[in-house]
Order: sequence, then structure tokens, then C-alpha cells
Amino acid sequence: MYVHHSIPELRRKLLCGELSCKDITSSYLDQIASKHHLNAFIEVFEEEALERAKILDQKNNDPNSWGKLYGVVIGIKDVLCYNNHHVGAASGILKGYTAIYNATAIQRLLDEDAIIIGNLNCDEFAMGSSNENSVHGRVLNVQDESRVPGGSSGGSAVAVQANMCMVSLGSDTGGSVRQPADFCGIVGMKPGYGRISRYGLLAYASSFDQIGIFSKNIEDLSIVLSVIAGQDEFDSTCSDAPVPDYAAQLNTARQYRLAYFPQSLEHPSLDPEIRKSIIDWMEMLKKNGHTVEPVDFNYLDHIVPAYYVLTTAEASSNLSRYDGIKFGYRTSNQTNNLNELYKKTRSEGFGKEVKRRIMLGTFVLSTGYYDAYYAKAQQVRRLIAEKTNAVFAEYDLILMPTTPSTAFRFGEKSNDAVEMFLGDLYTVYANLAGIAGISLPLFKHSNGMPFGVQVMSDRLQENKLLDFSSGALKP
Ligand code: GLN
Repeated sequence: MYVHHSIPELRRKLLCGELSCKDITSSYLDQIASKHHLNAFIEVFEEEALERAKILDQKNNDPNSWGKLYGVVIGIKDVLCYNNHHVGAASGILKGYTAIYNATAIQRLLDEDAIIIGNLNCDEFAMGSSNENSVHGRVLNVQDESRVPGGSSGGSAVAVQANMCMVSLGSDTGGSVRQPADFCGIVGMKPGYGRISRYGLLAYASSFDQIGIFSKNIEDLSIVLSVIAGQDEFDSTCSDAPVPDYAAQLNTARQYRLAYFPQSLEHPSLDPEIRKSIIDWMEMLKKNGHTVEPVDFNYLDHIVPAYYVLTTAEASSNLSRYDGIKFGYRTSNQTNNLNELYKKTRSEGFGKEVKRRIMLGTFVLSTGYYDAYYAKAQQVRRLIAEKTNAVFAEYDLILMPTTPSTAFRFGEKSNDAVEMFLGDLYTVYANLAGIAGISLPLFKHSNGMPFGVQVMSDRLQENKLLDFSSGALKP
């Protein structure tokens, strides 16, 4: 069985002929088959991946022609369009829908010779924190199969956790990459808003959505980020700032100015063991020469409500396109007019959580409630952004827990939406502010589960975030 350490090491092994792309792909396919019960994959592109590996192997003796991701086996979340492949957002409403173009991120992976091995399970339309809201059923956490992998990119996290691919892509609207990475003991990063084009990403809440990356180390993540980030004529929200070679800027041993919000560590929902581990870790950072200082942040209790008002509003608008006419599923029940067709299709096609959010979003946008909810939440978002700018004027990075608890058990929160939402306390902040965040798998809880710590940088300062992270994860 192929054991992956890093992309540069893979390249060396391919160069000296110790391995071929086909060997590696077969090894991953075996692993996927043996871990089928985890339900991480919705579809495995078995024959196609092998065929691609064979073609890549033909470039075997001409390393100059190898793309940056030559032979890198990648899984993608079921919200990314891969031409001629099904994409469904783990929803009934996209049943039978096939993507008709490549998302920019996918195109860039392919252009650099990556092998896309399959599409990965998630919460329906990326709405959830446990992967319990998928039409394809739940995904199991390898560390303890009675526990959730996190969400919404649960399949993407488990695919990397269980060695079913080297790297995977997810999407992060309010934590869907960082939180499952935390629950599964791997690295998960969401770059700043605008860093990666969202062209071909099925939208949930467009002013929050970002594509994110899962990996087992910072180097791989940095290499993939350099490939997929950067200007795109198909996404006007994508920044035209130059994309650094992130991997070349790691392990600088630079000392950083780090801020933390005492309110985040004092929050009653935070597991005491998580609190203690992070406080001890911050002490160690100080000993290692970093500056670590408290900064007051009084908005913590407002961020989850603001996030759920704004994202449901945007979702209600984004998801109105699934009407039974243009994409995927259409009711087969008798309908007498167009309105009935819409209603029946949407009632049958969407799951419970998505319907809840469409209704909530429609409510907060409705005349009479708009000012009290939507406009208010926008004001909260503005205050948070201003505060964040002030923090980054003085500090390089912000430290926070990734989640208040380790991975919980299936069913533990699924009947209480508010409790589930409150678990997003620490992750939604970065999306509200548009900044970058990463979860670093540094700790183990006495309950046996891994957990991480979250580090955030200003937009387009991902190089600092990754450099600091490479130092923090050094054994
Ligand atoms: N758990 C959050 C939500 O349900 C985040 C989801 C995400 O980032 N896609 O909205």
C-alpha cells in the first residue's frame, strides 16, 4: 500500500521510478473499497482515474513536462462542477444532474496533472455541521465510528483522514472545512474571501462561500493553494492579487504577533480540556519568541445570529434556481400549473434543513422584518469587519479554538437546530470578516478524539498563516 507523506516526496519517488501514477491510483482505489462503509465517497471515478494515471505515466521519463500536481490523488466535495460528472450538493433536488463545465479550481487541478478520484459526501447544499443532512446518508469518523466527522465537508475530511486520497477540496461558508478538519485530526484551511475563484462552486451564501483544502500537512496544502488560487475572469469576486509560491515561504522560523480574544476562551460552551490545551500552547508560543496578547472582542454572542440571518437570506435567493425546470429533479406527481410544479418539486427535492433555511431566509428578507433582521445583521457584520481590521493593524494572526467540543455522537444535536448552530461559534467569524483561517491538528482529548486550534490571518495574508502553521506543526 502506498503511504503518502508529502507531494515533494511523492515526486521524488515517481522520479526515481520507485512508483508509477498507476500504482498509486490503484492503491487509493483499494483503500477506498476497503473503507466503503465510511460513506465518504458518493461516486468513485475508478476507471477514469486509472486511465488518467496511465496517460500521466507516459510522461514518466520527461519530468520537465510534469505539472505541479503530477500524480497527486484528490477528492472533491459534491458541490464542485467537474465536467460530465454528476454534481448534486448531496441533495435530492439535483438528482440526475451532470455538470456541463469545470469549476475553475477543478480545471486548475487537472491542468497541473492531478488525478481526481471521486466526489465526496457532504451536508445538503453545505448546510450543516455533522454530515447528517445528506441525501446519501451520514459519513463516519474513522477515529470513532459512532461520532460525526463534522460538516458540511464531512466526506472530504474523512477521505483524507482515512487515506483515501492525498488531498481533498471542500467549501467553507461558516466553518465547513475547518470544523471537520478539527473533528478528524487533519489540516483544513479556508483562504480569505476572493482568494480562490468560486466559478463552478454550487452557491450557498455567496458573500461567505470559499473553496477550502484538506490535507495532512502544510506543504501539500500550500502547493495546492498556489495552483488553484488567483484571478479568474469567470468570477468577478476573485482577487487579482498575485498568488505567492506559498510552499517556498514555509518554515521561516519567523516570530509573529498573535492576538487572541479572551472572550473566546472564557465562553461557557468551550470544553475545559480544549481551553486548557490552547492556553498551555499559547504559553509555549511565547516561550518560542512569538508575541501572544489578549484583545477584547465583545461581539462573540452576536456572530452566530448574524451569520444565520445573512446566510439563510442569501441561501433563499441562491436556491430559488432549483425549480424543477432548469436542473435535476422534477416531481413526477400530477400538477395543474407551473406554481404547483415548483412547489411539489421543491417540497420533494429539498431536505429538512435546507427547507428550514430557505424559509428562515425568506422571512428575514420579507418586508416588515428586513430592517429588524437582515439590515441589523449587516450592521453587525460591518462592526465585526471594522474590529477585525483594527486587530490586523497591530497583529499578524488571531488564535481561537476551532470548535467548542470534539466530534459529538450521531443524533446528539440533530434534533436541536439551535444547539447545532451554536457549535459554529468560532468558525463563522472568519467568514463574516472575509479573512483566512486554518485548523491545526495539535491535540488529543481524554475522550480519545483529536482536536485542533484555529489560526486566522487577514485576507490575502495566507502566506503568514501557512508559514506560522508549518512551524506550529513541526514535531
Ligand atoms: N455549519 C455551518 C452551516 O451550517 C457552516 C457550513 C459551511 O461552512 N458550509 O451553515
